[in-house]
Amino acid sequence: MRALITGGAGFIGSHLAETLLERGHDVLILDNLSTGSIDNIAHIKGRPGFEYFIDTVENEPLLAELIDRSDVVFHFAAAVGVKLIVEHPVYTIETNVHGTEVVLKHANKKKKLVVVASTSEVYGKSNDVPFREDSDLVMGPTPKHRWAYACSKAIDEFLALAYWKERKLPVIIVRFFNTVGPRQTGQHGMVIPNFVRQALAGEPITVFGDGTQSRAFTHVADVVGALVTLMQSPEAIGQVINIGNTQEVTITDLATRIRELADSRSTIKYVPYDEAYESGFEDMPRRVPDLTKIRKMIGYEPKHSLDDILLQVLDYFRAK
Ligand code: UDP
Repeated sequence: MRALITGGAGFIGSHLAETLLERGHDVLILDNLSTGSIDNIAHIKGRPGFEYFIDTVENEPLLAELIDRSDVVFHFAAAVGVKLIVEHPVYTIETNVHGTEVVLKHANKKKKLVVVASTSEVYGKSNDVPFREDSDLVMGPTPKHRWAYACSKAIDEFLALAYWKERKLPVIIVRFFNTVGPRQTGQHGMVIPNFVRQALAGEPITVFGDGTQSRAFTHVADVVGALVTLMQSPEAIGQVINIGNTQEVTITDLATRIRELADSRSTIKYVPYDEAYESGFEDMPRRVPDLTKIRKMIGYEPKHSLDDILLQVLDYFRAK
């Protein structure tokens, strides 16, 4: 098969590109390098069956041509990272909503399968943990810009499902839960690369809030493995599917573990949310996926523990 990956020079997209090539597929990448980086694809640039285009999905003639040449489209181009979202809400909403609109519109012309990247953020402030795909989404108020991300992705989901229902465009919606691993940068706020960099530099590790909030982190290799299987699974079409890991950790415990594994003398510094993001910032207290659906559908089981992830990210930052 030939896959088009929008946002393919990003963290998850570049890992997916590599795996697809290894498994004998062809890969086209369309990325405007807004949060992605050419470094992420440097090692695959010369491989047979690989082509990349540095442009945005809003270049519709190019987008249409690349979709025509592909059998499946992974639409990963988006504004991501809580810090980026809070600082640039206009860009976030426009990129996430309009980008998905044009991808679905052009894919629909030739009925090409579209895998739409969504996020666990859509569950919002819900306390109904673990989150199931049919759980209610609980958004915060509109003046708090963090929720613009969840809402923009929820609109993407609605639109993709509408294309499936009304026009029979095959779509699969995947909700990623805190995907991490080598090549992720801390530039837009992601916690693990930030903590690892701070621990290795001997700087204070900055825990936002009181550190009792928790997350369940998934290795990018587990996510990519699931994506490659899902794109070949007819039963996934028209479905919303969580992809994650259920090993939950509080952010304070995460900071402590990273400090131990890095053999670092960094202190742990608690930073109020108002200072870290914006006044009145609301965090999600817990975020853990219910994986029943994906287990049943494709026998998915994440293989990487939190320690595996942390050791690999430490190695990556040390090598850098
Ligand atoms: N966080 C933190 N210090 C940092 C970056 C993030 O304590 O330097 C916290 C953040 O407030 C959140 C958790 O770590 O509670 C995960 O943040 P991230 O931005 O990685 O992902 P999120 O789950 O919020 O989308």
